Amino acid sequence: MTCTTCPYCGVGCGVIATLSDELIPNKVSIQGDPAHPANYGRLCVKGSALADTLGLEGRLLQPLLRDGDGSAQTASWDQALDRVATGLRDVIDRHGPEAVAFYVSGQLLTEDYYVVNKLVKGWLGTANIDTNSRLCMSSAVAGHKRAFGEDLVGGNYQDLEEADLVVLVGSNTAWCHPVVYQRLMQSRRERPEKRIVVIDPRRTATCEQADLHLSARAGSDVWLFNGLLTYLEEHGVVDAEFVADHTSGASEALAAARLSAGRLEVVAKACGVPVANLQAFYAMFARTRKVVTLFSQGVNQSSSGTDKVNSIINCHLLTGRLGEPGMGPFSITGQPNAMGGREVGGLANMLAAHLELHDPQHRQLVQEFWNSPAIAAEPGLKAVDLFEAVHDGRIKALWIMATNPVVSMPDADRVREALSRCELLVVSDLFADTDTAALAQVVLPALGWGEKDGTVTNSERCLSRQKAFLPAPGEAKPDWWAVSEVARRLGFEGFDFQQPHQIFDEHARLSAWRNDPQGVQRAFHIGGLAGLDAEAYDRLRPCQWPVSRAGESTPRLFQDRRFFHAHGRARLVPTPPRPPVNVPDEAFPLVLNTGRIRDQWHTMTRTGRAPRLANHLPEPFVEMHPYEAMLCGVQDGTLVRVTSRWGAMVARLRCTADQPRRSLFVPIHWNDRCASDARVGALVNPVVDPLSGEPEFKHTPVSVSPFPVDWHAVVFSRFPLQLEETDAPAYWVRIQGEGFVRYELAGRGRIDDPQRWSRSLLGLRQPSDWLEVHQDSSHDYSAAALDADQLLACVYLSSRSDLPSRGWLGRLFEKERLSEADMVGLKLGRSVDPADDVGATVCSCFSVGRNTILDAIRDNGLTSVEGVGRCLGAGTNCGSCQPEIRALIAAAQLAESP
Ligand code: SF4
Repeated sequence: MTCTTCPYCGVGCGVIATLSDELIPNKVSIQGDPAHPANYGRLCVKGSALADTLGLEGRLLQPLLRDGDGSAQTASWDQALDRVATGLRDVIDRHGPEAVAFYVSGQLLTEDYYVVNKLVKGWLGTANIDTNSRLCMSSAVAGHKRAFGEDLVGGNYQDLEEADLVVLVGSNTAWCHPVVYQRLMQSRRERPEKRIVVIDPRRTATCEQADLHLSARAGSDVWLFNGLLTYLEEHGVVDAEFVADHTSGASEALAAARLSAGRLEVVAKACGVPVANLQAFYAMFARTRKVVTLFSQGVNQSSSGTDKVNSIINCHLLTGRLGEPGMGPFSITGQPNAMGGREVGGLANMLAAHLELHDPQHRQLVQEFWNSPAIAAEPGLKAVDLFEAVHDGRIKALWIMATNPVVSMPDADRVREALSRCELLVVSDLFADTDTAALAQVVLPALGWGEKDGTVTNSERCLSRQKAFLPAPGEAKPDWWAVSEVARRLGFEGFDFQQPHQIFDEHARLSAWRNDPQGVQRAFHIGGLAGLDAEAYDRLRPCQWPVSRAGESTPRLFQDRRFFHAHGRARLVPTPPRPPVNVPDEAFPLVLNTGRIRDQWHTMTRTGRAPRLANHLPEPFVEMHPYEAMLCGVQDGTLVRVTSRWGAMVARLRCTADQPRRSLFVPIHWNDRCASDARVGALVNPVVDPLSGEPEFKHTPVSVSPFPVDWHAVVFSRFPLQLEETDAPAYWVRIQGEGFVRYELAGRGRIDDPQRWSRSLLGLRQPSDWLEVHQDSSHDYSAAALDADQLLACVYLSSRSDLPSRGWLGRLFEKERLSEADMVGLKLGRSVDPADDVGATVCSCFSVGRNTILDAIRDNGLTSVEGVGRCLGAGTNCGSCQPEIRALIAAAQLAESP
């Protein structure tokens, strides 16, 4: 039994992993850690399905070297590391250290992050190291620094429970941070008077339980919070003593707010919300002292992200609402170790241990501690600029770790082009076939969750251990080890780490180094954790920094009203509103918004392998208001092409009135390995916030048009298809199932010989049994390959898109022998017994389908989520599907009403 931490979102839930059968990955059982302060035993569906992602299929087990012609050979670590070190040395000798860059990830452990940052800034002497956290919360970092003098999240998850009002801004918390959402909902059940307001252009699952949803136009948050600041002042809701004694800049911030948002009508118009709703929110905020404003990517991923953050913080500073239980601004991070990366200086514009690159005293302090030959003197290139520098040849060597920028970056086709031009591209990953790793000359096998060992820090400053409970597969190694080995080959000292606890110890000591009034005082201080030996490090329980020398952790900052600007005050920052940089026009009249879905993580390289996570939303999709769809000439359920000035993609249309007019929502997850053309990053404008460098993922002008096809097919096969080797159809998606792989296909032209086409697609030359139906009149065709009554594969091809129920077909693959009724069903293309068709998955934890839930509601007269839970179990584990269950209950009640 191992206590570890979930590797997905910034909630940072504690997990107990138990090996129930020796070293068989799918025999690991996963539970929430009841003692972990982030989740107290809860897990969401992604966390619960962690065991399903641990298989070694497709894992890179040895280093891989690629030649100029693209041919790849496995290599020893010595060969691979020599090639990396020689390549870096060669580039530095010819072009200087600024021609080298590193792009790392919020998925790295703090120890990996620490070592790579030390190498780059202290020994290579450049700050060209940035991270995918730039895409996630760098606006929050910049906003915190402006307001508090340091990148600080003062509160904790308990404050969300204790607050009387929680404002969720730009955050689909129910889907993206489900355990925090569950905690919030539980606290509301205990105190029904608690209020929840959601500010989001979309009506998401999070809005379902909100008292008020403000569908503020994308990019309008600064108007909204400037309006609130003005309202608070006008209504005398100002903590004058706090403002006078502990802040600066209030008059300037208020003047800027009044200028842009002095009248409710002006704000309502700028935000596109009714005046009455705006007034209701302002009044609720004004009369509630215990208020937490939680914000996430909807705020950060904007060309004015930093100002948005400060406009929120200004309202808390004006009212003195922070530093006490149940109040404060709260940035929730997307990634498991976004905050750990910030602690070690993993962004291009910071040093380690919350010290600043631009300050000579800070640089000297770090260099002294490291005893390093150099120290970066200028900020390095932030993510978007970094890839642009690769494209134009300024960066000639790039090492990417634990991230997939060919999918996740804005203007992603240009990023792919840049990487294909790079003189030396090194990628450390679990898989050699990610969209990014496929371009690398050197691919290094990294350790994954369950194999690696270190620490992470979640959104509430809680530092937890992520521990190994599985052996390293093949020759995979920790990233810190690979970086240290390259450093040694470059002749550098200071990288003789043998164990992660040694790195953690150095990191903890650096946090305490000259961290006093005579040196450079900062809140980030984990000196109390310095000196842990391997055993003590292994026993380390979750704690919130700062951790004093006596080992006490700090659940809440700012209780002493002390901030970290030179004058010790917090700063209210004037935030004149700016509209998004690229606005819709005639050619691109709609606004593209991107984000996550409930059951997938990032670019699906891990979650895409877990069948139960694939069932909820299996295909890439575009959400659009039905009226807007009508104007674009596209129909619900059909394929559409979305185009921007930067690129295009194809996905299936889902019409919903939850999506505001003149906008679209597309999830970020699909990549070129699992879909034909669904990388939304290819469309996203590479515009960034001028201070934080965070890209504007939430606002790209696009157009939508039909993607006409002549036929549709669904294929289930026990073996993966080699789509590249056949004539790949215009549209395809690969979906991992339990014991099969499912393909959704669509194409152009006519398939003259469907039997030949099907057999060739399935790679079947001599199937034992071939059950076939060919309806000449409609050109519909179906076939099933059987082996002794067990289903090997099936194909349904039609000119129409209403193909058989995928849930029912998938269940046939669970059977060792098909029954007569199953055979008849296969021929008919539908289940003979309707009870066999459970419908699309709603509850992924217990694999409960839509039809099952509707039947239970109807047959048992269920009227509540709890009732459905008692009857079917659905919604009783992670709770993420509860909004959908509620919607099904409402739909059933509507259908029943006279
Ligand atoms: S909320 Fe879910 S994804 Fe996030 S850390 Fe917890 S279990 Fe993992």
